Amino acid sequence: MSYETVFYALGTENTITVEKNDKTGAVERAVERVLEIDEKMSAFKETSEITKISRNAGKSPVVVSEDVYYVLEKALEISRVSNGAFDFTIKPLTRLWGFGSGRDCVPDISEIICSKAQVGYQHLTLDANAKTAFLNKSGFSIDLGAIAKGYAADETKRILMEEGIDSALINFGGNIIAMGNSPGGSPWKIGIQNPLLDRGSKALTLEVSGKSVVTSAVSERFFIEDGVRYHHIISPTTGYPALSGLLSVSVIDDSSLLADALSTAVFVLGMEKGLELIRKYRSEAVFITEAGEIFSTYKLN
Ligand code: AMP
Ligand code: MG
Repeated sequence: MSYETVFYALGTENTITVEKNDKTGAVERAVERVLEIDEKMSAFKETSEITKISRNAGKSPVVVSEDVYYVLEKALEISRVSNGAFDFTIKPLTRLWGFGSGRDCVPDISEIICSKAQVGYQHLTLDANAKTAFLNKSGFSIDLGAIAKGYAADETKRILMEEGIDSALINFGGNIIAMGNSPGGSPWKIGIQNPLLDRGSKALTLEVSGKSVVTSAVSERFFIEDGVRYHHIISPTTGYPALSGLLSVSVIDDSSLLADALSTAVFVLGMEKGLELIRKYRSEAVFITEAGEIFSTYKLN
C-alpha cells in the first residue's frame, strides 16, 4: 500500500508518495519545508526574499537566508556556464509573457525589447560574508521558476532520508525524484510526456533508481496564437520562447536542483551545446527534437 500526500506550492501541484505509513511525521515536515522555500523564493509573493531583492534593485543589497543565498549561487553558476541561456533575471520577460496568468497573447515587440534590456544575470552581486544579494540596476528582477522546484525536491529527499525513508516518489509539478527502488524492488518507471500530445501521453518511459528526472518542454505552459505555439521557456537573447530545435529535454542527475537548472539551460541551448553542458556536469539527458526523434545519453530499455 502506498501513501500519497498532495499539496499546492511553488505554483504547481506536488505529490510525495511513500510506501510505508509514515509514523515519524517526515512527510509533514517535508511539506512544511517546501512551503517555507516557496515563501522565500516565490517571485509572486509580496513578502518573499526574492521580491525584496527585486524591489531593492539599483538601491541596496538585501540580507538573505542560507536557502536563498545557496540557490542564487547555483543559479548564477548555471547562468555563467550556459552563457546566459539560463538566466534567473528573466522576470521582466516572464512577467510580460504572463504564462499561466491567462493573458495568452503575444506581447508587442517594443515591449519585448524593453523587457529584454532588463535581463542580465551579471547584474547580481552576492556577498558571501554579509550574506547579501544585490541587483545593481533598477528595473531588474528575479524568477527562480527554473530551479526552485529542484531545490525543494532535494530538501524533501533529505528530510525523508533522515527518517530512514529510502523508497519514495517525489513529484513537484513534473520535477521528479525517484528515491531508491519501487516497492517491488525494481527501478521506478518514469513516463516522459509526448510534448505534442495531450497530458498523460507518454513518449517513452525511463527506469530510474535513486535519481532525479526533470523535464523542460513546450508542453508545460503554452498558448497557441495564429497556429503558432508559444511556450514558457524564454530565450534571454531574443525575448521570445526559445526555438532551439527541441521540444523536450529531460535531465537525469543525483541533484534535482542541478537537473532542474540544466534542463532549462539545455532546452534554450539546443542539442549540440546542450550536450556539452550535460557532459561538463557528468549528467545525463533525453532529448526530443522537433522532428520527433528521441536522442538519449541515458540507457533506454
Ligand atoms: P523549467 O520548467 O524548469 O524549464 O522552467 C521554466 C520556468 O523558468 C518558466 O516558467 C519561467 O518562470 C522561468 N524561465 C523561463 N525562461 C528561462 C530562462 N531562459 N532561464 C531561467 N529561467 C527561465
Ligand atoms: Mg528547470
